[in-house]
Amino acid sequence: MHVSNKTCDSKTNRSIGCTVDECKYHCGDEQYCTLQQIRVGKCEPCANTCECTECASFEKKN
Ligand code: SF4
Repeated sequence: MHVSNKTCDSKTNRSIGCTVDECKYHCGDEQYCTLQQIRVGKCEPCANTCECTECASFEKKN
């Protein structure tokens, strides 16, 4: 059952769109992050494609 996150509206950062709903910072109801800012990092020493980048602020939802 989907439980609506009532704190979502006040925390949603519409400047950071995100579809990673496995992350504990994901808004839940909408495709946005709830952090004020995120850090983007590289998965490889030298990024050549989009797949080489990642959200370094990701934390797995409990
Ligand atoms: S921290 Fe990163 S992965 Fe997590 S919801 Fe925010 S943008 Fe998405």
